[in-house]
Amino acid sequence: LETLNVSDTKNMLLYIANKIISNKPYLTEVDSKIGDGDHGIGMALGMEEVKKVLHRLNGVDSVYKLFEEAGNAMLMSMGGASGVIFGSMYLAGAKDMPSKECLTAFDLADMEEKSLNSVVEIGHAGLGDKTMVDALHPVVIAMKNNADKGLLEMLLAAEEAAKTGVENTKKYVAKFGRAKSLGERAVGFQDAGATSVYLIIQGMREFVEG
Ligand code: ADP
Ligand code: MG
Ligand code: MG
Repeated sequence: LETLNVSDTKNMLLYIANKIISNKPYLTEVDSKIGDGDHGIGMALGMEEVKKVLHRLNGVDSVYKLFEEAGNAMLMSMGGASGVIFGSMYLAGAKDMPSKECLTAFDLADMEEKSLNSVVEIGHAGLGDKTMVDALHPVVIAMKNNADKGLLEMLLAAEEAAKTGVENTKKYVAKFGRAKSLGERAVGFQDAGATSVYLIIQGMREFVEG
């Protein structure tokens, strides 16, 4: 796929939702090491709602509308900090965009950049704070640097960047959430939200690769 039309985009978001839902035990296990062990539960709940909303939507003529609806579904259903953070990852880059029938690599890179900016604005996490930003920030850089190579090449680079980002979170002391109170004891464990970002980007790559 060189671009994603409305139907492709909907199917990709459904594919990612199913992937996150099937990784619910894994994400919960990751969060239980240094967090409160609910990340998989929250993400799966949000993604079940995404599926419901996307299945209900008909006659959509803009790819951005799909991301917007999916992000809103997560925001409304997940609640808490991660609902806002992950809802924004879909919603922030898509809202207020003019209607568009297909998504190019450049569009996706721009969307993720806006989403990252919004997540940082809302959550105030920087690189090295052991959050999903440690995965999303390198994803955005990889997307921006590789958008001219096409959707699949861009997503392969973004997936690799996310993977490295997740690995990097193991080295960090946490600045947010329950892991913060663990101090140095959180070192050696990866961040749950960064892991979700990796799975989402990997899902995009898998869908586009077909
Ligand atoms: P909670 O921490 O409320 O239990 P989750 O377990 O669902 O929520 O999500 C935790 C994840 O949310 C963390 O692993 C981290 O990646 C992400 N997160 C938490 N706070 C922030 C923040 N301020 N900015 C960015 N990401 C954050
Ligand atoms: Mg948690
Ligand atoms: Mg919690």
